[in-house]
Amino acid sequence: MKPEVIPPPQAALPDSRGINLYGADPSFAALLGLYLSADLRRHLAPHFERLGALAGDELDQLAATADRNPPKLHARARTGEDRQWIEKHPAYRRLEEIAFSEYGLAAMSHRGGVLGWPKPMPPAVKYALSYLYVQAEFGVCCPLSMTDSLTRTLRKFGDPALVARYLPGLTGQDFDTLTQGAMFMTEQGAGSDVGGVVTRAVKDGDDWRLYGDKWFCSNADAGVAMVLARPDGAPSGTKGLALFLLPRVLPDGAANSYRIVRLKDKLGTRDMPSGEIVLEGARAYLVGDAGRGFVQMADMINNSRLSNGMRAAGMMRRALTESLFIARHRVAFGKRLIELPLMRRQLLKIMLLAESARSVMLHAAAELEKADAGDEDARRRIRILTPLLKFRACRDARRATGDAMEVRGGCGYIEEWSDPRLVRDAHLGSIWEGTSNVVALDVMRAIRREGALDALQPALEAMLPQSASGAALASAVKRAAAFARDTADQRDDVHARQAATGLYYAVAAAVLASEGSRLGATGDARRLLLSALVLAHRLLPRDPLERAAEDRLAEVLLPETPVSQAQVDQLLRK
Ligand SMILES: Cc1cc2nc3c(=O)[nH]c(=O)nc-3n(C[C@H](O)[C@H](O)[C@H](O)COP(=O)(O)OP(=O)(O)OC[C@H]3O[C@@H](n4cnc5c(N)ncnc54)[C@H](O)[C@@H]3O)c2cc1C
Repeated sequence: MKPEVIPPPQAALPDSRGINLYGADPSFAALLGLYLSADLRRHLAPHFERLGALAGDELDQLAATADRNPPKLHARARTGEDRQWIEKHPAYRRLEEIAFSEYGLAAMSHRGGVLGWPKPMPPAVKYALSYLYVQAEFGVCCPLSMTDSLTRTLRKFGDPALVARYLPGLTGQDFDTLTQGAMFMTEQGAGSDVGGVVTRAVKDGDDWRLYGDKWFCSNADAGVAMVLARPDGAPSGTKGLALFLLPRVLPDGAANSYRIVRLKDKLGTRDMPSGEIVLEGARAYLVGDAGRGFVQMADMINNSRLSNGMRAAGMMRRALTESLFIARHRVAFGKRLIELPLMRRQLLKIMLLAESARSVMLHAAAELEKADAGDEDARRRIRILTPLLKFRACRDARRATGDAMEVRGGCGYIEEWSDPRLVRDAHLGSIWEGTSNVVALDVMRAIRREGALDALQPALEAMLPQSASGAALASAVKRAAAFARDTADQRDDVHARQAATGLYYAVAAAVLASEGSRLGATGDARRLLLSALVLAHRLLPRDPLERAAEDRLAEVLLPETPVSQAQVDQLLRK
């Protein structure tokens, strides 16, 4: 009898593994043309290509492995001496190596020579490359951002001798000798309410000794950390806090006096160690002015909040790229998913969130560059753009990654695909570095105390195109700004999130329109349509029982190919 021939299983599930995440996102290269000088863009083109290929393949596989093999805390060396160390999986080490050493993502803002460019890179480069990296790996982005932000704050406020001692390590690219940074601020009784910090700082000769219990310490074994503590006799609240640099190893090679008590068992960022640390008279160096510790730390927090917003934008792009890939390849009811009208609408909703965040992120990077060059209005604008992006993009990332998980269907819920990791990681963005409530209230503070909206609103209005759609946008920007101003002035906390959301989408719509107008001149005006979508779905009143005219924009936006200005005019019925 002939053996029964069993046909091989059909590979019915589309798998994007191996695609180039830079190439799969055709708008990105065009957008970079608006934010980077032509020579820098030309110079970086192969680096973006390579990182896109890595993110779609090797990095993605490493991230999945590292996620399944969280770090372990050890109390002793194998020779018996008490020496705490954290064991990290080789996959995590390789992820670190690519980010810190090969791409120099933590160093590139602070010195020339990274990626063969003679000068420090503008913020847009760091964010654009990290945006690509984070599409595969989120955990390592915390140590990256901590190192970059700590270096920035140390250089701004630190004593020159202290800066000189630690700068080479912090900006190094040799993986065996570089120094990573961290930020130990939160305590059991002091999270959002940082003024409750009770860690003591006691003067000891030229240095200080710290005593206390830090409750959330990400990148727990970092070489140096910025720590908030209260010098004995200092006033209560944030005014009495001083900022210290805490080295893990003292200049004589001895371990500093603090213990990692345990590592947290986390929902996301499972590969990156977040610990609880007890400071037992740890030696630390005062940074800047003892009475301005919290103000100085705010500089580090704001820089890492911006990075958080960038990461949310990147995760949303990954969610969108995956969703589009599946929708183009998976077949149901005899059609590719992307041909099904309700699926098209679902994809467009993810795209709206992802593209809004990307535009606000790139715009913020440009404003940061101007602010760092001394432009006072740009400083006030970045003061408000930072919490706007951190608050709203991190919230939106929860939704976009969850929606993308559903686009993949049942497999989206299975850990061997990227979706569960994205969803788990995305939920962290809106908690650490300040929860959504706290960050929305910070937007109100920036308006009330620093006149940030007075600098932002005219800049937004100046961006809008002179057209009928530009006029509709101008009116929405005015309304969003008035509502935010009123909410801030009246200290109407209950509406702070609503006001910050309105303002964020007003910024997004304005930036998208401006990008669309500028790109339209060279052949791709699709961002004008995205701006119209944001306006209709996020800023204008809507009747829940009416058919939305903009839903037909899916026909032109989902192919992700350039559209002409004439098509845009026709679609917006000008
Ligand atoms: C994985 C992870 C890693 C972390 N890593 C670090 C780290 O490296 N360094 C570090 O210093 N911290 C770190 N944190 C701590 C994090 O920043 C805090 O958890 C966060 O700021 C919230 O503080 P909390 O946990 O004390 O919550 P709480 O401050 O107690 O907040 C509880 C709730 O109250 C709300 N709330 C607070 N104030 C207000 C208000 N005025 N109005 C309305 N609602 C309010 C909050 O929005 C929140 O929903 C980390 C946290 C996590 C989860």
